[in-house]
Amino acid sequence: MRLSKGFFPTVKEVPSDAVIPSHQLMIRAGLMRQLAAGVFSFLPIGYAVMKKVMQIIREEMDAIGGQEFHLPALNPVELWEETDRVKAFGDIMFHIKNRAMVLAPTHEEVITSIAKNHVKSYKEMPQIWYQIQTKFRNEPRPKSGVLRGRQFTMKDSYSMDSSWPGLDKSYDLHAEAYKKIYTRCGLTFHIVGASSGAMGGSGSQEFMVESNAGEDNLAVCSETGYAANVEIAASLVPNAERFAAIEPIKEVHTPNCKSIDEVAAFLKMPANRCAKSLIFMNDKQPVLVLMLGNDQLNESKLQSVFGQDIRPAQAEELLQLTGADAGSIGPVGLENKFTIVADNRLMNANGLVSGANKNDYHIINLDLQRDVKVQSYHDFRMVEEGEPTVDGKGKLRIVKGIEVGHIFKLGTKYSVAMKANFLDEQGKENPVIMGSYGIGVERIVACHIEQHHDEFGIKWQKSIAPYDVHLICVNMNSDAVKKKSEEIYAELQSKGISVLFDDRTDASAGFKFKDADLLGMPLHVIVGEKNLKNNQIELKERETNNRRTVPVEAAISEIIKFVRE
Ligand code: ATP
Ligand code: MG
Repeated sequence: MRLSKGFFPTVKEVPSDAVIPSHQLMIRAGLMRQLAAGVFSFLPIGYAVMKKVMQIIREEMDAIGGQEFHLPALNPVELWEETDRVKAFGDIMFHIKNRAMVLAPTHEEVITSIAKNHVKSYKEMPQIWYQIQTKFRNEPRPKSGVLRGRQFTMKDSYSMDSSWPGLDKSYDLHAEAYKKIYTRCGLTFHIVGASSGAMGGSGSQEFMVESNAGEDNLAVCSETGYAANVEIAASLVPNAERFAAIEPIKEVHTPNCKSIDEVAAFLKMPANRCAKSLIFMNDKQPVLVLMLGNDQLNESKLQSVFGQDIRPAQAEELLQLTGADAGSIGPVGLENKFTIVADNRLMNANGLVSGANKNDYHIINLDLQRDVKVQSYHDFRMVEEGEPTVDGKGKLRIVKGIEVGHIFKLGTKYSVAMKANFLDEQGKENPVIMGSYGIGVERIVACHIEQHHDEFGIKWQKSIAPYDVHLICVNMNSDAVKKKSEEIYAELQSKGISVLFDDRTDASAGFKFKDADLLGMPLHVIVGEKNLKNNQIELKERETNNRRTVPVEAAISEIIKFVRE
């Protein structure tokens, strides 16, 4: 493609909301333009990258026996009512005003409806069905460019198995395919254990790219290889002590002591003798959660015990239910009104301080075996930077991550809801056992740029670069330079190398070099007057920005060697 003829709108300025490198560079290099909040047009050079990523995905999905579908984005709303997900998605789902239809944010329902009608026997499984298609989600805060769009491209696949070990196998096949896909796309990534969230199901893992632009927090450890979303991450922290003998509980006046630190300082106790009470509401009994000292409650962990709908109580509810404000609440005397649970670190502890359900009063000598009925203990704690890993062999780092993919063992949630059953070997009817697996195509492109760029522009890795080579004719007004550039252009193309040829007559050499750095093709081939007089062509590898000259006769073979190796 000739730069003089094609559409390559590179720009210097970016809108002020473009703050992360990938967002800025996708605009500056002319990969995409925003049409509305979270809605983007991909321009030719950006779409060329998307197509390469999609091709890699297709190859790896085909390699695990996947078959490609193309499902409609426009879905009847009744389909989503069968699984109660109109409610679960809420405002995230786009509804069509003049029809009872929605724009699909994902495709479990459509897939399950096909499986229900056509997969009737264990003999017809396993199946892996995938598609690469546009998804619509009314994200409340679209941001960071294509990383969080309201319309985006997803590879989604679904496995159907007749047994749980079968599901494990389909899931593992996907995990392996995903590793190959991200590696081939030039990404460095973590595989982290994750919470299954609104999708339901048992196991799930996320593929995360470490980046400050990420919206997820990950706990990772380079010594042990541990990596988990903080939603589920655990660490090795000691439990509160249990003393041999303690006094009965006693109420003490603690004027103006609201926080754990204030209470601990006033009572001259370490913060780790305080049991903090947090109140949550759901459609059943209110829940009182006890946490040790200044430990932070992890709401995802709470949700995995009590369901998605649990929410913190409001100030008026606290007062009405306990008789006190936050800061003076405690479990004693609330057994009948609350489900009382505690974090594992408080397991059977005693000698504790808690609120007395009376403003400005606390209870001391609390014994969780003697004075309160704790219904159950769970890990409710948010891990912190620097804590030891559970095996004690390393330290946790908390880093930001961008989710580029997610694999779920769905189980039978959708097949049960939609009655997608099959007959097993004994002729008995069972629900199909499903998995669901997603990859964000735009996110791969943006993450690639996040990981491969410098202050001058993008550094495409060969596997997904829009062109193999950027050929720069430094001076189109010199006949010799022009002739040699045209020759190289024709010859490379005839050898199957894709070339972006800067043949502009009105652009200065400096301008052309700047554009080449911005656009970021892996190899720049520079044909200039001075070098050509010495029978030399200049090659620059964008990855290292190293330049070298090669004799004109050797140029083509050197270029091909670089592209193919
Ligand atoms: P997130 O937590 O970032 O909202 P999600 O858990 O909603 O992601 P899934 O429903 O698992 O995402 O979708 C599968 C993949 O689709 C994600 O791993 C991500 O790569 C991509 N994806 C999800 N939402 C968006 C979006 N709004 N814009 C671009 N890509 C997205
Ligand atoms: Mg989401």
